[in-house]
Amino acid sequence: MSALRWLTAPASLLAETFLPPGCLACHAPLGPREKPSNDSPESLLCRDCRMLLRPLGQERCCPHCGAHPFRSVPGRTPPGKCVDCASLPEAFVEARSAFPYQSPAGGIVRNLKYRRSPFLAEWLVRLSVPHVRDWLYKAADGAVIAFVPMTGGRQVSRGYNQAEEIALALGGLLGRPVLGGTTLVRVAHRGPQARHGTRRERRAALKGVFVVRQPEKVRGKKILLVDDVMTTGATAAFAAAALQTAGAEEIYIYTPVRARLGAGSLGGRTGADNAVLS
Ligand SMILES: [Zn+2]
Ligand SMILES: [Zn+2]
Repeated sequence: MSALRWLTAPASLLAETFLPPGCLACHAPLGPREKPSNDSPESLLCRDCRMLLRPLGQERCCPHCGAHPFRSVPGRTPPGKCVDCASLPEAFVEARSAFPYQSPAGGIVRNLKYRRSPFLAEWLVRLSVPHVRDWLYKAADGAVIAFVPMTGGRQVSRGYNQAEEIALALGGLLGRPVLGGTTLVRVAHRGPQARHGTRRERRAALKGVFVVRQPEKVRGKKILLVDDVMTTGATAAFAAAALQTAGAEEIYIYTPVRARLGAGSLGGRTGADNAVLS
């Protein structure tokens, strides 16, 4: 495959033709007994990473936003919502993730995002889907898959949007169409308040960041919105709110990994936010 072809090929094609030489998460060489196979994404993890791979216990997650662990405050949080999603826009039905944002799944996301490795999206999807299969099939049934966009400038400098790569891989696996990148767009970066401010300041900084340019493509539709990582859920929730304003009927959110929120998130920012917001 030529360099140009490699850079422009869809993730699914690359995953079929390119078995990485080392562990997907930590790059350690695979042992002589480890036989990488297209049919088994776990076979592309080294022994240590395979042993560390633990899915989120869905029964311990917030039934609405998927935050783990589920933390509610009697009298302060509505039934079925946690302290993290109670103040998000009422724009999505449910959100779920497969793995916590820690090794090895977190390592794969970081490699996907920062090491110019878009082909990892396919492996991340294959690795994660079995752990949320029932929920994903419900959320994707009759849905169009959308993804959280980046600003044009950031996408040009990275070369791709990792959320789009995940959406394309998921769409291929579930047989669902993926909304083009010109429909839901990001018109601005979050300001510094979105990264460093209080919970209220972060959410205010996200208002107006996402717009839908072609509302006819989402009006009346069920949407499965995809991103790489969820932390407080604010970014995905505001992207969902833009889809809802444009007339989308029902919106679900899926991210392969989810950051665990620290105890300090009750009132302000979290360490996880600082680690994963970009
Ligand atoms: Zn490894
Ligand atoms: Zn929640």
